[in-house]
Amino acid sequence: MNVHSNLMRGHMLIGGELVESESGQWLESVNPASEETLGHVPAATAADVNRAVTAAEAAQPAWGALEPKARAKLLRQLAQKLRENTDNILRIEVIDTGNTISKMRADVASAGDTLDYYAGFHSEIKGETIPASAKNLHMTLREPYGVVGRIIPFNHPIKFAANALAAPLMAGNTVVLKPPETSPLSATMLGEICREVLPAGVVNIVTGLGVPAGDALARHPAVKRIAFTGSVPTGRAIQRAAAEGGIKHVTLELGGKNPLIAFPDMDPDKVAQIAVAGMNFAWQGQSCGSTSRLLVHADLYDAVVERVAALVGKLRVGDPMDPNVDMGPLNSRRHFDKVLRYIAEGRRSGARLVAGGERPAGERFQRGFWVQPTVFSDVTPAMTLWKEEIFGPVLSIGRWSTVTEVSALANSTEFGLTAAIWTRDIQQALRMAKVVRAGHVWINGYSRHFLGVPFGGMKNSGIGREEGIEELFSYTETKTINIML
Ligand code: NAD
Repeated sequence: MNVHSNLMRGHMLIGGELVESESGQWLESVNPASEETLGHVPAATAADVNRAVTAAEAAQPAWGALEPKARAKLLRQLAQKLRENTDNILRIEVIDTGNTISKMRADVASAGDTLDYYAGFHSEIKGETIPASAKNLHMTLREPYGVVGRIIPFNHPIKFAANALAAPLMAGNTVVLKPPETSPLSATMLGEICREVLPAGVVNIVTGLGVPAGDALARHPAVKRIAFTGSVPTGRAIQRAAAEGGIKHVTLELGGKNPLIAFPDMDPDKVAQIAVAGMNFAWQGQSCGSTSRLLVHADLYDAVVERVAALVGKLRVGDPMDPNVDMGPLNSRRHFDKVLRYIAEGRRSGARLVAGGERPAGERFQRGFWVQPTVFSDVTPAMTLWKEEIFGPVLSIGRWSTVTEVSALANSTEFGLTAAIWTRDIQQALRMAKVVRAGHVWINGYSRHFLGVPFGGMKNSGIGREEGIEELFSYTETKTINIML
């Protein structure tokens, strides 16, 4: 990809070659700040996905047979090359996603860190011996599945793309990756780097729409292991497609409507500050882990609502390339329309709009997918604002009075991704942490991920855990050997 020309043209990586789609069709990627065309990537068809899976199948035996240490060395080289290209990748990532530059540098760094982290496990892909009978020896081996399919969403494309490679490759699988269609450019840059570092076919990247490209990958009979990050409806579609294609191991990292629970012993200023930070406005609230439901005790409620509205009103919306900006545009036209529909529905619902709710005023915001950071208070469980994931810069605030009540409120959606509990009473915090049905809980914390600490959702927020050793093992299947002595 020539990142210096005005219009970028990314390619797919299949079998070590940078290629176009067999159909000759291209997808446009749009700068969400201006709605101008930024570049194009191939629109993969099922035939392209089949080519990629075939290349991955052909490359897997040699990759799986490498010394684990040799695979680790190549992953570290990949991490290093990514770091060397940070500035180029960062620039494209910010323009393509709309996420603000001040925070996105950490995404590129985390991509390298995750590759290094899984490389460090090269001697840990081990089985067990089991004393199941007195005379004989029983042991297990961990073997790679073969070809792993990974499909990722639009909000952190380079970070998710690199993360998607690390654990499966370390375990000896080869990978076919399908990046998001609305911010696909950084993944094509990763493809160029993979081509320089890895043997042909070990990583294959097919750009394109969910249907046909993602669907073809999920249902391909040679892809035994599929991992998806994205929305609940797509997660369900992937489970269906996978089941129609064969018997597969499917893991899903899906959406959230995450409660931040503030107890009455907290300072309202502190709660307001955390509530705004937990919304991840730096990427327009487009984060599965955004604490988009703030549940505040009645004693603090009015003070917190007032302070949150004041803080949100001060956020600087503008050019995501400007390091002083707090929030950029939403990622795409479709997503912008969806977020505006939720805001309109919120206005009709009886909830109180206390900040934002409009396209920002001013000439520069009339084109592009701009929405003010928005806060509704007096949100109740019957409202759509409470129940559905907006995945945008919209915070919903609700009130509670008793611990029994807030326990029920916290668990009152289909989601169970994260929860944040704020109190100075550790007993109270731990009791609540046990009650809440969420895969990832922070006590006096929010949003931050720690490499090595498992992340994933309960209920409809997903299946499986990533970011720790469990993820590595999830890319292996156990073979048992009984040695009859
Ligand atoms: P999405 O589900 O619309 O799309 C995600 C990916 O799936 C894209 O690459 C898309 O092309 C592909 N896809 C769409 N339809 C498909 C189909 N039928 N078969 C196969 N692939 C298909 O999600 P999005 O709008 O890109 O991302 C937002 C969602 O992702 C939110 O719900 C958010 O919470 C979730 N998310 C979850 C995590 C997590 O770790 N749990 C992290 C980030 C985002």
